[in-house]
Amino acid sequence: MPRPILCTIHPGALRHNLERARRGAAPASVWAVVKANAYGHGIERVFDAFRAADGFALLDLAEAERVRALGWRGPILLLEGVFDARDLELCSRLGLWHTVHCDEQIDWLAAHKTQAPHRVFLKMNSGMNRLGFAPVRMRAAWTRLTALPQVDEVSLMMHFSDADGPRGIDAAMAAFDEATADLPGERCIANSAALLRHAARTRADWVRPGIVLYGSAPDFPENDAAHWQLQPGMTLATRLIGVQSLQPGDTVGYGSGFVAEQPMRIGIAAVGYADGYPRHAPTGTPVLVEGVRTRVVGRVSMDMVTVDLTPVPDAGFGSEVVLWGRSALHGTLLPIDEVARASGTVGYELMCAVAPRVPVMVDALE
Ligand SMILES: *Cc1c(COP(=O)(O)O)cnc(C)c1O
Repeated sequence: MPRPILCTIHPGALRHNLERARRGAAPASVWAVVKANAYGHGIERVFDAFRAADGFALLDLAEAERVRALGWRGPILLLEGVFDARDLELCSRLGLWHTVHCDEQIDWLAAHKTQAPHRVFLKMNSGMNRLGFAPVRMRAAWTRLTALPQVDEVSLMMHFSDADGPRGIDAAMAAFDEATADLPGERCIANSAALLRHAARTRADWVRPGIVLYGSAPDFPENDAAHWQLQPGMTLATRLIGVQSLQPGDTVGYGSGFVAEQPMRIGIAAVGYADGYPRHAPTGTPVLVEGVRTRVVGRVSMDMVTVDLTPVPDAGFGSEVVLWGRSALHGTLLPIDEVARASGTVGYELMCAVAPRVPVMVDALE
């Protein structure tokens, strides 16, 4: 028998979340962002659920090839554009649309030999200071691009740094509006947080939701997934492979990270940081045993996590343990955002970090 750990992908939830994003962004067209192997879910596993999107957005050329290999003939956008002049050949061959965020990428396009002109997304730096042209340089870049025979259509793109927080989108939106006021072209704006919180103000032709599609709230803990009507796209579950009874003063795990104050039972779950469960998850991190909410106690180790069985007296060897997602037996939910928060990170990181040794199944019933 393999270890009982299993990651389950829920296509019904993914479909629901895409529909939720589409409603929130209407009438904008929707990119399903599937970078980082669909936020750890697996491009091939989410593809069917996301076919209803208007296009797939990602960064890696190999991932673009995988989406084409699945039979997708619609738009694919490279969110960071090409990394090398030679990548443009693959763009021509596979019909990839690509972001242009720096002069080097325009130089490469100008030297590129192609029969089929490219659609490009000219990216402005709206204050995030990662990728993109400064607002004052947008017009020159646009003029240069539109003059190239290698380019057929130029769209305008930006990315918010603070759509999930108190700074909001006002300054970035104003900078973008001003820099692009009289430039024609479709506007590609809005990650998940902007789409949920500020859709009406972005006037986007295209939106780029990522995390919402997978069922995590981009602005947790201000709002949670239930507030935004999102469903978990992934469940990480395992079973108890041992039980111990503790007396007051007994300790648990490496470094005796937990000390029992009263008699209690603990369960040993077959999951650890080598599976992608966060090692930083402290005592108190929520977990479901037999669908009942309880907590991690003691230090997370490579292959095991210890959980408090006090609220689940009937639990024992073989009981279901849900690290995040949905209990198969009881339907109870444990939002990934709560586990991430307790561990000092975000749902994005946990999804992306499920380790290769964890078997993954697509829930065929959905
Ligand atoms: C990852 C990414 C997104 C999606 O962001 P979420 O917060 O997951 O919705 C959108 N746009 C760009 C440029 C990205 O890199």
